[in-house]
Amino acid sequence: MSKGRIVAIEAGRLLTPAKTLSPARLVVEGTHIAEVGTAEAVRIPTGAERVDASNLVVTPGFIDPHIHGCGGADVMDGTYESLNVVSRILARHGTTAFLPTTVSAPPDVLTSALEKLGGLMSKNFDGARPLGIHLEGPFISAYKRGTHKAGSVLAPNAELFAQWIRVSGDSVRLVTIAPELEGIDSVIHVANDSGIVAAMGHSNATFDQASRGAGRGVCYAVHTFNAMRGFSHRDPGIVGEVLLSDRIFAEIITDGAHVDPAVVRLFARVKGKDRVLLVTDAISATDMPDGRYVLGPDAVNVVDGVCRNAEGRLAGSTLTQDVALRNFVNWTDWSIEDAILGLTLNPSKALKLERKGVLEPGADADIAILDGQFRVMKTFVAGKLVFDRKTGQSA
Ligand SMILES: [Zn+2]
Repeated sequence: MSKGRIVAIEAGRLLTPAKTLSPARLVVEGTHIAEVGTAEAVRIPTGAERVDASNLVVTPGFIDPHIHGCGGADVMDGTYESLNVVSRILARHGTTAFLPTTVSAPPDVLTSALEKLGGLMSKNFDGARPLGIHLEGPFISAYKRGTHKAGSVLAPNAELFAQWIRVSGDSVRLVTIAPELEGIDSVIHVANDSGIVAAMGHSNATFDQASRGAGRGVCYAVHTFNAMRGFSHRDPGIVGEVLLSDRIFAEIITDGAHVDPAVVRLFARVKGKDRVLLVTDAISATDMPDGRYVLGPDAVNVVDGVCRNAEGRLAGSTLTQDVALRNFVNWTDWSIEDAILGLTLNPSKALKLERKGVLEPGADADIAILDGQFRVMKTFVAGKLVFDRKTGQSA
């Protein structure tokens, strides 16, 4: 088999992200990374295409485990065209892999969406790659449903969940559940058995209920603080457990509307650099002007980039991961070296991905190249240039 195209990137700074190399050289062969090191240590293979990023920062491509859509497309359409719109736009923002995320809907609607989405997972896309489905709900708390419709929230049903996994062709990778619901253990059991990561979210759990969930392997928290029982010093609730537990990977939405910047700073300090996940929860309105959009089966009104449903509740975001990173760094004073973990290595570990979220020999050549203002200059997916700001090339 031929090795495919060879690309040599000269990096001003390269974040593996466990290590920082400055300057550095990275060689891509075909779809994978062949070598990473200093310019002295890594030879440029003959015939390699050269990429000059000597004034730029080279990082693994971003991974977004929580995204409902963008560019006018909602992933629950379940069409190739919609998913490809999402794929292309995400690449412009440094995201190279994502989990298309569903919202609670009547069982037949979810069945149909999962069937269609599952059938698309192995297709080729122009930009970021879908890695599987995030099933957000419907086994969530009626008290903390956010914009998930009351009529679509269901009591835990392990058979239904198993059926959804089946129709999706085993493409469900993450499932958001409320750990306090009676009968949820059977759903968690199916998730554990199927290699699906179970996440706590849209939950009114007490501290003890959330701790018990974590004990059963629910070590991922969805949009921390949002749609969760509030934190109180006499009733720490699910937020207390998410913040305290060293095992739990925790999403945060850093758009300034979902969580106050001061609370983002507090969150960063408590969770530490190895457990933060910078996700978007973005909806179809992302990368689009204000107006009327959809989130799954629901209508959403977008004003100044903030999405709300008819009741005025926050309904996802218009955030992109490059902006999430910039806001997080500005609000926390974390270095880019630490903050980048929240979009690369941490989601890779949280989702148990192999060969993603790192720049090391053998890893997938998913790469983002950023300038000093966190603007994405180039994006590679599986070794292919899918976005180039300079030439305007977009997948
Ligand atoms: Zn949500």
